[in-house]
Amino acid sequence: MSKTDWIVVGGGSAGCVVAARLANPNGQRCGKVTIIEPPANTTRRVDRERPAKWLNLLGSDEDWNLATAENCQLANRTLRWPRGRGLGGSSRINAMIWFPPTRKDLQILVEASGGLWKISELQDDLDELTKLTRPEQPAWQSEAAERFLNAAKQFNAGVAWTYMRLNRAGRRWNPAELLTTAQASGSTASGSIEVQRSTVNRLICKGDQIIGVETCDDHGKNEIFANKGVIICAGAIATPAILMRSGIGPRDQLEKAGIEVRLESEQVGQGLQDHLIMPMIFQVRSGKFPSHTSVQDIVRWQTMGTGPLSSNLAECGGLFLEDSIQIHVTPTHYLSYPKPADLAFMTLGVNATQPQSTGMLQLQSSDPQVPLNIHPHYLQDAGDRNITIEGMQLARRLVKETDLSQWIVSETLPGEKRYTDQHLKKAISRYSQTLYHPSGTSRLGVTNSSVVTPDFQLKGFRKAWVVDASVLPRLTHGNPNATIMLLALKAANKLRSFVG
Ligand SMILES: Cc1cc2nc3c(=O)[nH]c(=O)nc-3n(C[C@H](O)[C@H](O)[C@H](O)COP(=O)(O)OP(=O)(O)OC[C@H]3O[C@@H](n4cnc5c(N)ncnc54)[C@H](O)[C@@H]3O)c2cc1C
Repeated sequence: MSKTDWIVVGGGSAGCVVAARLANPNGQRCGKVTIIEPPANTTRRVDRERPAKWLNLLGSDEDWNLATAENCQLANRTLRWPRGRGLGGSSRINAMIWFPPTRKDLQILVEASGGLWKISELQDDLDELTKLTRPEQPAWQSEAAERFLNAAKQFNAGVAWTYMRLNRAGRRWNPAELLTTAQASGSTASGSIEVQRSTVNRLICKGDQIIGVETCDDHGKNEIFANKGVIICAGAIATPAILMRSGIGPRDQLEKAGIEVRLESEQVGQGLQDHLIMPMIFQVRSGKFPSHTSVQDIVRWQTMGTGPLSSNLAECGGLFLEDSIQIHVTPTHYLSYPKPADLAFMTLGVNATQPQSTGMLQLQSSDPQVPLNIHPHYLQDAGDRNITIEGMQLARRLVKETDLSQWIVSETLPGEKRYTDQHLKKAISRYSQTLYHPSGTSRLGVTNSSVVTPDFQLKGFRKAWVVDASVLPRLTHGNPNATIMLLALKAANKLRSFVG
């Protein structure tokens, strides 16, 4: 048994921002912040730094390697669901795209807060976050990205741009580095951060107060107690799992798993959302590609952090059809990269930005080693498929009706012969993939069913807060990491009022 001031459960995108901010509260004394993050292989590997190699991190020991149940709308396929493990969490293995919340995303957040938040305040928080994370403009771009951006300008059906990235001089960066900065700049004066390498099984409650957590590691079970509180940041899958194992969740699920109900909360583990991406793959004439790297490219990246190895593959994209569609551009064959290819490819990945389908997580057991059943219920709402089909038709027109047409050799997937809605529907069910954005499983809001209040408090409990992808009231229009870190910063700034 040990004691600390604050426990942060999970050192991922949100957890690192919360801990770094809490430990550095502008001179006030915050005490000791203990982040509990399961161990991962932290040996220095070059693939951890070269942006173009990020796909090699999936399936590695830095990935929880989750998978969904069979999806009936996806030809009964199960999808691999990578989730980052180790400090940095999913930011450790992600595609590094910095996509700040859109105006509509900010409005959704304001509505969810019941008007407690203001757009201008959220924008101030975003400015503060941007100063911490310092996203970069890339120094190198593939021909696919250059040509797509020109074509999108000609086509004029939306806005496309080069994505900024969470990089430092062309090398991967993730929010775990904020912890080092926080430790270096103020830990002795204001507080300290300690990282404990173990896994949280459940929360420890005393009445309506969360007083600590039960953890486990190679040495067995342990208990850690927090004087000031527990902040749960274990992500869209693990956060509701921890809540349910602690007796907070839908009664029928808890009872089935033999867990005593502490607080019946129907929406824990429900409301699951994700972006589903349909890759449209084109064979193109040769150009500059990150897949074809030479010794000079390696030297260029090592010495200057630029060249094809600095590409994050998803180099550019944008929002189309009144923001209902996002198109991502990669200079790869989306379904076979990083396997070497003789031919040159470009993929336009199309996804509905605001899917209406919602899935759920199902607890199978009180044993933390037993994974949850993940049911994303992709495309359960037929509108999601219809919008994706519209997006695919738009992508085809964009390719055909602009200068891109001169660079394309042929459409490999779905293939030009497949042009009816029925063909496209079939292609979506057979080839679409997760865009790695699960969220919404412990939503923040002001309704009776919300799990978390706009102050990030876990409803029904004192001294417990939740902030991570699980609290998102709606999936963001673009990639969610910046918005999740924005909420984490907001939560930490709020918690600072408890400091002292
Ligand atoms: C492959 C991939 C590519 C992506 N690309 C992008 C992108 O380019 N841009 C973008 O905006 N978004 C991207 N995302 C999404 C984005 O990275 C995530 O939405 C975001 O990181 C989620 O943050 P989080 O804090 O909610 O969870 P995470 O960052 O996943 O953090 C959760 C942490 O909790 C830990 N944890 C889990 N269980 C326990 C437990 N029982 N006890 C203690 N700790 C636990 C985990 O190990 C992890 O460190 C990508 C995600 C993936 C997986």
